[in-house]
Amino acid sequence: MEMKINNTSAVVDNQATVLVAPLSGRVIELSDCLDPVFAYKMAGDGIALEPNGDLALAPCDGVITALPATHHAVTLKTTTGIELLIHIGLDTSVLRGEGFEALVKSGDSVVKGQPLIRFNRELIAARATSMQSVVLITSGETFRAVGAGQDLVAGETAIMELGAATNKTIAAPVEEQESQSISTKVVVRNPHGLHARPISNLIKIIRGFDASVKLKNLSTGKEGKANSLTGVLSLELGLGVEVLVSASGAEADAALKAIVAGFESGLGEKVADIPVTITNDSVEASPTAREDDIDENEPPLLGLVSQDENVLCAVRAAPGLAIGQLVHQMRELPEFPEVGGSIHEELTALNRALLGANTALEALIASVTAKGMVTHAEVFVAHQELLEDPSISERAEALINEGKSAAFAWHACYQAEAASLRELDNPLLAARAADVEDVGLRVLRHLLSIEEENSVLPDNTILVMEDLTPSEVVMLDVNRVVGVCTIKGGATSHAAILCGSMGLPYLVSVPEIICQHPNGTAAILDADKAQIRLQPSEHDIATSEYKRQFASENRAAALASSHEQAVTLDGHRIEVAANIGSAEDAVKAVEMGAEAVGLLRSEFLYMERTTEPSVAEQTRVYEEILTTMGRNRPVIVRTMDVGGDKPLAYLPLPAEENPFLGERGVRIGLNRPAILRKQVRAILQASHAGHVRIMFPMISTLNEFRAVKKLVQEEQARLGITRVELGIMIEVPSAALMADQFAKEVDFFSVGTNDLSQYTLAVDRGHPKLTAMADGLHPSVLRLIDMTVKAAQREGKWVGVCGGLASDLGAVPFLVGLGIHELSASVPVIPEIKARVRTLKFDECRQLAEQALQQDSAEAVRKLMPPSD
Ligand code: PEP
Ligand code: MG
Repeated sequence: MEMKINNTSAVVDNQATVLVAPLSGRVIELSDCLDPVFAYKMAGDGIALEPNGDLALAPCDGVITALPATHHAVTLKTTTGIELLIHIGLDTSVLRGEGFEALVKSGDSVVKGQPLIRFNRELIAARATSMQSVVLITSGETFRAVGAGQDLVAGETAIMELGAATNKTIAAPVEEQESQSISTKVVVRNPHGLHARPISNLIKIIRGFDASVKLKNLSTGKEGKANSLTGVLSLELGLGVEVLVSASGAEADAALKAIVAGFESGLGEKVADIPVTITNDSVEASPTAREDDIDENEPPLLGLVSQDENVLCAVRAAPGLAIGQLVHQMRELPEFPEVGGSIHEELTALNRALLGANTALEALIASVTAKGMVTHAEVFVAHQELLEDPSISERAEALINEGKSAAFAWHACYQAEAASLRELDNPLLAARAADVEDVGLRVLRHLLSIEEENSVLPDNTILVMEDLTPSEVVMLDVNRVVGVCTIKGGATSHAAILCGSMGLPYLVSVPEIICQHPNGTAAILDADKAQIRLQPSEHDIATSEYKRQFASENRAAALASSHEQAVTLDGHRIEVAANIGSAEDAVKAVEMGAEAVGLLRSEFLYMERTTEPSVAEQTRVYEEILTTMGRNRPVIVRTMDVGGDKPLAYLPLPAEENPFLGERGVRIGLNRPAILRKQVRAILQASHAGHVRIMFPMISTLNEFRAVKKLVQEEQARLGITRVELGIMIEVPSAALMADQFAKEVDFFSVGTNDLSQYTLAVDRGHPKLTAMADGLHPSVLRLIDMTVKAAQREGKWVGVCGGLASDLGAVPFLVGLGIHELSASVPVIPEIKARVRTLKFDECRQLAEQALQQDSAEAVRKLMPPSD
C-alpha cells in the first residue's frame, strides 16, 4: 500500500470509509494515465486502472450526485460527505451513451457493491481513446490507496481508505460576497457538453482568482458551485445550454472574463460553431416582463380555427364527402362488478364468451373472404390465434377462482397483457398489443352482452375514433360506414392509404370537442374541404347532397371512359397507374382502367404474417399480380418498405428513438441482404408472367443503390435473366438533390411525396397536430420534384409520382406541368385522374408549375389551382 496525501489539510480518522474497487482490472499509476487532466490530477486524486469487466459498482454506500446522459461516468457522495468520480474509459463522452447502460439515476441512494453502470468493453475499447478508467476523490480529501500492478476485483478489493470530508479547498462564499456578485451568460459550445476534462480546466481557471463562482443551468434552473467537479457535472451542461456564471470576491470581474474566454475556447476542447452570448447584466437586473396580459389559452398562431362552432377543421387523409350521423367508437364500457357469482357460473360465462367471440370471428372471416378480401381475412385469423392462446384465459380463470367476476377477471388480464407488450417500447409489439385489446374487447362485449348493440352500426355511420390502425380499416363495415374521423392519426399514414383505396372519406386531427357531440348527431364530413360540419341545416345538407350527386355523376362519366388513355387537350399523354397492396387490388386496378402498377407496396402483402414467406410463396403472389395486369401493363414492385410506422410481424426490429430516420426501407435490405435477396429472386422468377420493374424505397445515397443493383445483377445472372428495369423512389431530399447523378444509373424515378414532404418539411407524417404542414404542394417539395424531372430528362429517363399527391385531383395540373410522365394513384380515383388530365392543356400546366415553384407556401400554390372544369 502506498500513502497518497492531498496538498491540503489532514485526515479525519474517526469516520474512515473503505472504498472497494468499483471496477475489476489492473491498477496503473494515475500519472501514467493517457489523459493529462487525470494524470496531472486536475480532476482530483485517486487511482487509474485498465478494466477487464463490464460493470461499475458502488465502491461504498452513498448517493449518486451526477450521472451524465452519456452514462460514461458517475459521481457519488459518501455518507461522510466525500465526493467521488468513476470515469469509464477516456474520451468516452463522445460515444453519447453508446455502449453504456445506466443502472441507477441521479439522486438514488446506493449501497456498497450495487451495480451502477453496465458497459460494453469491446465496443468502447474500439471506439474510444482508451479503456483506462479512473476512480478519483474530487472533493480533495486524503486517502490511502492500493499500488500499481494490483489486480482488482470489483466489489471486493479494498482500494482506498478515506477520512471524513474536510470542507477545505475553496471557502464557501459568504452572503455579503454573493450579494455583490456580477454575472454573465455563456453558452456551452463543447460538442459533448461539460464533462470531466473541460470541468477540470474550468476549475483550474477559477483557482487562479480570488473569487467565488457559481453556475446556473438556465434551461433547468439547477445551480451549483463551479469549484466542484461533481457539482458542475450534476448541472448537466450539454451543448447549447445557456449558463449564468456569477462571481463575487476581490477578483470577480477578472475571473468572469477568464471564464467567458474559457467557455469560448472550449475549456481545452474543440468547440462547436455556435455563438457564445454574453450579457454583463445580472439576470436579476434584467427588465422583468409582465405576465398578466398573457392568455394561457391563446389559440395556435398558425393553423385553421373555424369561426363557426358547428364546423370543426381537420386534415384530409382520404378524399370524399359523407353525409350521415356520428357514431363514437371510443371503446367505453359499462361498469361491471369486481365480485362474481359462483365460481362455476363465472367460469361458464367466460367459456361461453370465448366461444361466442370465436364464432363471430369465423363469420367475419367467411364474409371478408367471400368479398375477395383474402388478405384482410388474415387479420381475423390472427385474432383467432390470440383467442386460442391460453395465457390470458388461464390467468383470468385463476382470478375467477379467487372470487372475481368473469368480466373483471378477463378485463384485468387482457389489459395487463396489452400493457406489458406496450411497455416493451417496440412498435411491432405495440401493434400486437392493439390486437390483444381488440380481441379482449370482443370477448368482454360477449360477457357484458353488448355485442349485438355495438356490432350493428346504423346506416350512414360517420365513425369517430381516437385513432385508426390499418387492421381496423379492413374490419370496417363499408355498407354502413360512410366516413371516418379520428382525433389522432396522420394524413399519409397507412390507415389513410387503405381508406383511400376503399373510397372511404377520412379526416384526421379532428378537434377533441367532437367527443361532446353524442351518437346520432347529424354531420357532413367533407374531406376535400378538410372539415366536418355538425348539426347541418337543411340547406347545408341539400348543398352537400348536390355536391355529392355532382361528384358521383362526374365519377360515373369518368368511369365510362376509364379505359381510354389520359391525353391533354393539346395531345400530351400521361400514364395513369395504380398503387396496390394485394392481388385483389390488382384486379380492381384493371377494372378501373389502370395502365400500369406504379407502386406495389410489397410489404402490405405480408403485414399479418408471423413467419417469413418462402421464395416460392412470394413468387406465386408476384406471378398472380403480373398475370392479372397482363404484359402491356408494367408492374413496379417496390421492395419491402418496412420500418417507420410499418412494423412487420415476422421481422422484429429493435425500438428506435426516431424510426422514420432509422433502419427503414432499403436500409433493412442492405443490413439483412438475405431478406432482400429472397424477394428479388422471387420477383425475377415471376418476371416471365408479365412486365416487371423493381424499385427501391428510401434510397438516400448512390452507394445504397449500387449495392442493391449489384445484388439484383447477381440474382439475374443466377437465373439467366438479362434485363430488368431498376428504379428508385425519390422520397429523401438527398436523392432529389443528387438526381443528376442517380439519373445516369437508374432506369426511372418515382417520387414518394408522402415521405418527401415528411423529410423536407421535418414533419412526422403520422403526427396528429403537424400532419397538415407536410403538404406535398409546398414549393420546397415541388422544387425537389422539378430538380428530379430535369435531371431525369437530361439522361432520357422518366419520372412518376406514386405518393399521395398523385391521387389529389387538385395537384394533377401542377404535376403534369412539372413534366411528370406517370401518375400512380390509389385505385378508386384512377378514372377521375384520367378525366382530369383530359381537361388540361400541357402548355398551361407548364406555366402553372413555373408559377407554383415561385410561391411562398402550399396555400399559395393551392390558390393557383385551376377550376376542375
Ligand atoms: C411515399 O412516401 O410517398 C410513398 C409512396 O411510399 P409510402 O407511402 O409507402 O411510404
Ligand atoms: Mg415512402
